[in-house]
Amino acid sequence: MFLSISLYIALIIFGLGLIYKISTWFRYKISIKSLEISSSQRFFAAIRGIPLTLFSAKILTLFRNFILDVLLQFRILKEDFLRWFMHICIYGGFVLLLLMHALDQYVTVALFDKYYSTINPFMFLRDLFGILVILGAAIAIYRRFILKVPRLITNGMDIYAIVIVAVIMLSGIFLESTKMVAYSDYQRMVNEYSGLSDPQELKALEAYWVKEFGTVSPNLRGPFDEETLAQGRELHESSCAECHAKPQWAFAGYGAAKVISPVGLGVDRARLPSLLWYIHVLACMVGLAYLPFSKMFHVFASSVSLLVNGVIERGKSDPANIATKQVMELDACTHCGTCSLRCSVSVVFEEIPNINILPSEKIASIKALASGKKLSPRELRDIQEGVYLCTNCYRCTVVCPVGINLQDLWFNVREILLQKGYPEFLVLSPLSFYRGLMREETIQSDYQKPLIRARETIADQCDLMRVKEKALPLTPRDRKFQTGLNLSAQAKTFSACFGCQTCTTVCPVVGNYENPQEVLGLLPHQIMHATGLGLRDLAFGSNMLWDCLTCYQCQEQCPQGVWVTDVLYELKNLAIKYVREKRL
Ligand code: SF4
Ligand code: SF4
Ligand code: SF4
Ligand code: SF4
Repeated sequence: MFLSISLYIALIIFGLGLIYKISTWFRYKISIKSLEISSSQRFFAAIRGIPLTLFSAKILTLFRNFILDVLLQFRILKEDFLRWFMHICIYGGFVLLLLMHALDQYVTVALFDKYYSTINPFMFLRDLFGILVILGAAIAIYRRFILKVPRLITNGMDIYAIVIVAVIMLSGIFLESTKMVAYSDYQRMVNEYSGLSDPQELKALEAYWVKEFGTVSPNLRGPFDEETLAQGRELHESSCAECHAKPQWAFAGYGAAKVISPVGLGVDRARLPSLLWYIHVLACMVGLAYLPFSKMFHVFASSVSLLVNGVIERGKSDPANIATKQVMELDACTHCGTCSLRCSVSVVFEEIPNINILPSEKIASIKALASGKKLSPRELRDIQEGVYLCTNCYRCTVVCPVGINLQDLWFNVREILLQKGYPEFLVLSPLSFYRGLMREETIQSDYQKPLIRARETIADQCDLMRVKEKALPLTPRDRKFQTGLNLSAQAKTFSACFGCQTCTTVCPVVGNYENPQEVLGLLPHQIMHATGLGLRDLAFGSNMLWDCLTCYQCQEQCPQGVWVTDVLYELKNLAIKYVREKRL
């Protein structure tokens, strides 16, 4: 009764949790394109896509991915044998235990006529699968806490996963061992199934079970004479053997039973088998009910993601399905840390303690962003720093064993943050590499928005920028502005400029326009000059400053060794600082 009720409750919570989590794949938004697509459009696009995939040549790709990536986990094997072995042990052992043992009434009984959990091969296999899971969990603990794999961060979800697996497995093994030694269990079986009443026969059978099955009897203790054991064996063969293999086959439980046998009577009197049964069942039910909300959900999400990734193609597949796939990938992450281990900027984490620099951690923060949850300015700033420190080197995407396209995720998060009004001035240029890449993905009317907003913000504070088509008034030299530039070793090189215009001549942005001054305002050499004169508003307000691609051509060619690009960087930083100070 307890088992049925708890199973139904756990199944209901699990089912609702699964529906909720899958619904987030259609509701959450993590790309600019997805802002245009409603949840129902995404849902129906997925429904349409399933038969189209199943009845096309893509079914072969699905099949191959299922065998190689989902079942055999080849992607993990390519990375690290120990991790692969750990995964196969936990994943394989758990699934087999679930099917053969936990769902025995529905699976094993249906497949095998003569199924009893206490006969072979089931008894041996149950312990074998259990030991595989324990071995896998032990390797996970070893990697995290002893081997200390670099940048493998352990969070609450990882600890929960290890604890729940350990409780389920250890309670199961100790339950098995306490049942082996428990005299009351033995007696109950004799009363229910043996049909024996002769005291001599009962004594012989008990002696045989004490010797061969590890039962701890309050009445009998070995050694026993051969005649009694022979009679006991005979009675066992006729009454018990059909349902009971030798306990040694359950090698894990039997080993534990040998350890606890000196206190076997106390274990039985304290009714430990019942207590352990409740603990085991409850832990299984908690694990099942909480699965959709825990890290273990990746077992489901990463399998689906691996299959979907194989058949979805950027530029060809329905954008609604691509948007759904990206959100699904957030759940598919196993928090294995491979991406952080290989990330080309993760060494920065040793200097800047922002966890979002590590791709494996950034992905968790991005999940909160995608959910629409209101993040604090600090949290947003940390995510922003994480995605902008990324060098787009693509390594994380190549090594991710779940096939998550992390590169696309970082691009999308940058654009989402830009559009939300958290501009990163280094990438505002409409000609910049990153924005150019995202051009196709961005709603065209929104493309210029961040740049316009940034310019307007600066213009609000710079009087000179508001003067249009009139003679520019002479502005006083801003000494604070000049001193600010002089604080940086790179920026103060502007003072060496002698106005040769080489920087402007080689600049690809300048070369892009017929009449560059009309579009860009001051050109690079003029910005250097304005800076030298302390004309802050002119320097800040020039479009050239914000359109600079940071290609470093000017800096490479300058005969005076002026660090032109770095001066422009510094000017941008000063402009933002200046606007912020004014606003406060
Ligand atoms: S693309 Fe970015 S996050 Fe990924 S490995 Fe390279 S630097 Fe790290
Ligand atoms: S993104 Fe991929 S590589 Fe990185 S932690 Fe998640 S599953 Fe591992
Ligand atoms: S190339 Fe160098 S010296 Fe010539 S104008 Fe530009 S910054 Fe000045
Ligand atoms: S780095 Fe220099 S050359 Fe390159 S776009 Fe900027 S100003 Fe022009």
